[in-house]
Amino acid sequence: MEFDGVKEKTLVLVKPDAIQRGLIGEIVGRFEKKGLKLVGIKMMALDDEILTKHYSHLTDKPFFPSLANFMKSSPVIAMAWEGLEVVNAVRLLCGITKARTAEAGSIRGDLAMSVSCNVVHASDTVENAQNEVKRFFDEEELHNYNKSEYEHVYAEDER
Ligand code: UDP
Ligand code: MG
Repeated sequence: MEFDGVKEKTLVLVKPDAIQRGLIGEIVGRFEKKGLKLVGIKMMALDDEILTKHYSHLTDKPFFPSLANFMKSSPVIAMAWEGLEVVNAVRLLCGITKARTAEAGSIRGDLAMSVSCNVVHASDTVENAQNEVKRFFDEEELHNYNKSEYEHVYAEDER
């Protein structure tokens, strides 16, 4: 029987700046190499309705209109990644919001310079991740499958 912890999911968006800069493969590769399981992926155009919910903590900020325009400037890649404590692990991989001060080695630290154009979104808490995965993916778009590398990614008592 699989341990419930490895079923934790998080939402990642590859943002329009990364789409324009040809960084989809690079970003997906970072999560793959970490040993995470991709359980959902699609390209989608975001509208004001989903952005207002997704960025509900920011709608009263002066930069919200330009953030919304940026997020609508091209489609994004939405992904659901699964793994043990994956929400925290993915936030660490992404680095802090202001990309030019994000730690070298992180996705933002290596690939971006801006506070706004910072190449990725990642859910920040387990509770938000559950809501965000549901917001971006229908149930039938999330896949359940065995990943043989788990035998090498996790110790027996972790998977
Ligand atoms: N953002 C911005 N200006 C700011 C703060 C945030 O344009 O001063 C944008 C940026 O794209 C960021 C997103 O709004 O990634 C969401 O902000 P949040 O504080 O949730 O940062 P994150 O969780 O993405 O690191
Ligand atoms: Mg956030």
